[in-house]
Amino acid sequence: MNKRPVVFLDRDGTLNVEVGYIRNVDDLVLIDGAAEAVRKLNQAGIAAILVTNQTGAARGYYAESHIHALHARLLKLLKAENAHLDQIYYCPHLDEGTVPPFNRACDCRKPEVGMVEQAYAEHPELDKSQSFVIGDKATDVELARNCGAKGILVTTGYGTAVLKGEYQHIVEPDFQAPSIVEAVDWILQQVQVAH
Ligand SMILES: [Mg+2]
Ligand SMILES: [Zn+2]
Repeated sequence: MNKRPVVFLDRDGTLNVEVGYIRNVDDLVLIDGAAEAVRKLNQAGIAAILVTNQTGAARGYYAESHIHALHARLLKLLKAENAHLDQIYYCPHLDEGTVPPFNRACDCRKPEVGMVEQAYAEHPELDKSQSFVIGDKATDVELARNCGAKGILVTTGYGTAVLKGEYQHIVEPDFQAPSIVEAVDWILQQVQVAH
């Protein structure tokens, strides 16, 4: 079986503009160039898999169904530009949340690797030796460390604040990019796709 390189993509601040908890689906807006970047991954045969922590339901801000509605909106916006995600995984859990059954510790909340492990279990074609994480938080870079992927920090979303030490904590990504656009261009230079 030909193995596929894989990019694990963060959502908020990486694919779509960081605006806090999105209570209205129409407020989910793509970052400039994000759809084209995903399309480049699609065209190169590289798997594009969303891995996102979504605690809005655990905090009682909205129902879990709203997370699905947001992802339907995201897929629609991508599809309008001929881009797609191969799979979406989200972690709805938060230990200190207030709403059962989400108010518990788990092994899928980034930087834990549960979602990535699930992806590898469900998609044996993925090539762990050519794996990447793109995200705007220190926890995204740590996810990369924890699952043996290369970690790319984008300075959209919280990325700039992370680099300044003003949000979460300082991390050393393998690559730092102004946005997902440059992050994907860097990845395309790193990978070898079997044909
Ligand atoms: Mg993010
Ligand atoms: Zn979880």
